[in-house]
Amino acid sequence: MCPDDASVGAPLTSYPELPSLLETLSDALLFLDTTATIQYVNRRAAAMLGASKHELLGTSLWQSAPHLVSTALYQAVTTAIHTQESLEITYCSSITQSWLRVQLSPTNGGVLAFFREGKEPVRLHDALYKSEQRYRSLLESFTDGIVILTPEGLILDINQRPLLVAQARREEVIGRPMVEFPSWRSAPLAQDQLRAAIEQARRGETVHFEVRLYPQAESYRDLAFVMTPHCDAEQRIEYLTCVGLNITEWKQAEEEWRTLLDIIPHFVWAMYPDGSTHYSNQRWRDYTATTAEQDQGNDGWSRWIHPDDRQRVLDTWQTAVHAGTSYEVEHRLLEVETCAYRWYLTRGTPRRDQQGTIRQWVGTCTDVDDLKKAEIALYQSQERARTLMDSNIIGIFISRDDEIIEANSTFLRMTGYSQEDLRQGKMGWFRMTHPDFLVRTQQARQELAQHQTLIPYEKEYVCKDGSRLPVLVGGVALPFDPSQNLCFVLDNSARKELELRKENFLSMASHELKTPLTAIKMRLQLARTRLLKQGFGEAAATLLRAEEPVQLLDRLIGELLDVSKIQAGRLDYLREPVDIEALVYEIAETIQLMSTNHTIVVHGSAPCTLIGDKGRLEQVLINLVGNAITYSPDATTVDIDLDVTTEAVTIGVRDYGIGIPQGQREKIFERFYRAFDLSQRAIPGLGMGLSIAQEIVRHHGGTITVESEVGRGSTFRVTLPLKRSNPVL
Ligand code: ADP
Repeated sequence: MCPDDASVGAPLTSYPELPSLLETLSDALLFLDTTATIQYVNRRAAAMLGASKHELLGTSLWQSAPHLVSTALYQAVTTAIHTQESLEITYCSSITQSWLRVQLSPTNGGVLAFFREGKEPVRLHDALYKSEQRYRSLLESFTDGIVILTPEGLILDINQRPLLVAQARREEVIGRPMVEFPSWRSAPLAQDQLRAAIEQARRGETVHFEVRLYPQAESYRDLAFVMTPHCDAEQRIEYLTCVGLNITEWKQAEEEWRTLLDIIPHFVWAMYPDGSTHYSNQRWRDYTATTAEQDQGNDGWSRWIHPDDRQRVLDTWQTAVHAGTSYEVEHRLLEVETCAYRWYLTRGTPRRDQQGTIRQWVGTCTDVDDLKKAEIALYQSQERARTLMDSNIIGIFISRDDEIIEANSTFLRMTGYSQEDLRQGKMGWFRMTHPDFLVRTQQARQELAQHQTLIPYEKEYVCKDGSRLPVLVGGVALPFDPSQNLCFVLDNSARKELELRKENFLSMASHELKTPLTAIKMRLQLARTRLLKQGFGEAAATLLRAEEPVQLLDRLIGELLDVSKIQAGRLDYLREPVDIEALVYEIAETIQLMSTNHTIVVHGSAPCTLIGDKGRLEQVLINLVGNAITYSPDATTVDIDLDVTTEAVTIGVRDYGIGIPQGQREKIFERFYRAFDLSQRAIPGLGMGLSIAQEIVRHHGGTITVESEVGRGSTFRVTLPLKRSNPVL
């Protein structure tokens, strides 16, 4: 087909004279095929369209004749083609503003369109005029953009707003594909979205989409579009409307919110009701090491939840979805970077549209790890405390002032009281204490008030049935309320009984030993006296040596007896004036007589008298001087120093022997303790002397101390007060 040949268009070739006839028509004539492609155009039409026939033929009417294009024409042409019925319409060109009257006559394979330009319609057409005016002002009344498109996406009509923004002229865009609209050209991503939206709308769907356009190089506009298909009476898609809303400011506000949401320490999220993610803030993505793209639309959020908590969380979420109510759940979430779980409190709430349908769930996750761990620790400590309270070995009670306000079953069992007695306030710390221990209990109470702890001490309770219960009591003041004390009670009766039996045995054994020993001693002395009288001096001397171990045994038994008396509190003391200096000289002389290796030297003087038990003090000094000789086998001297002040007299016993190691100096005053030293192995003794000495000195209100250096000797110092305000004796 030759475009410049008058005989163009297959249907017209069979009438050779027809083309020239048509050229003479005063009306503009176009022949369009079923796709609205121009197959023929007469001279008048070419002049009206301002293009050559060559340019027009074979092109789409909608693309090559912008000032003819209108939605009304588009509708009419498609209707005429489909219905094969003639149509006549009058409309105003949105570009030239001139009125056009169009007659459409369907023919075989297309439609003939006669265009006649005219003035405004006369009165008869007033209604049409008004409707056209209304249509236009409606279009322009949109502050945002509205575009009417063919189902293929060609612009049929457009309002001023987008033209102004893009600084484009109407004739440049009418009939052009919308994807080529100036502000879209520089946004390939938006073009793809638009193409996809047109595709969807052509299938009859209403499409919502958001794009960012760049009408000018430096500025952008965020637009939300709704593309709606419109159908004819036969439900064919006639045209599409595309309304664009400028949401740049909203988007900016949203950006600001998002920035804010990204920096807050919580996770913020929005989910669709199917559980897929719509939005999550940066914190969440950092925590789970995901990108926004990975997260978007993903419904696998539950995989970050601790396996032990997962089902519980999913159940809670499902219940909330069914009920449409807010929910709260605590669970652990995996921090991908550290591979550690932390506790979070998740809160979700539904967001509904105007019809009340839940569109989204929005929520936050708050880090409650420290709180939760403290809670768990508290629970565990409570559990531990409960286990301790339930212990059937230790009696535990809590007291406020004298009253016992809480007690475990062990304490109740030990004392014979019941829970009911406890409730009725029948149990009291002091009330249950045996009168012998009231003073000590008072001290314990002061100790608790001062130091918040009570070092365990022995005492006796009086049980509900009046029996006595020996116990060991320790305690602490409760930190949150120091007026309350938590006390631990151990039943001491078994130990006490054992001790009693041991003491009885000791006292019985020493008595039993003492009697035959005294008899042996007397017989030996008697035999020696007789031998001496009969002139057997040598035999008498041998017998004297035999007396030495007997005397040692006698001393040990004496000490054993004293120990058992001390334990039973039955060591008796005399009250008599004691001349200390005379006593010291007396002892020094006596011991000197028996000791051949050492010289005992007394230094200083102590012209004073005190009230005490001479025999017991003598026992102390004999023990100290005896030890000084015993534990300095290689030395030759033992010094005794006397010193007196107005207050007290001090007796120091100094030797130059093996000495006592630092760590053992305190312990040698304990009952049965002997310093361990190879050099001491051969020295007999039971470790009782010093403990008895300390007991005696204490009863005289005095003190006994030791200074020592291993290998150089020791000094034991006894200080006794001359006057005592509160004598124990
Ligand atoms: P005993 O001498 O019968 O063992 P003591 O109670 O008198 O018992 O002494 C306890 C311990 O103290 C002794 O076993 C000894 O180890 C140590 N001790 C006492 N006096 C001295 C001393 N003068 N020098 C070195 N060690 C001593």
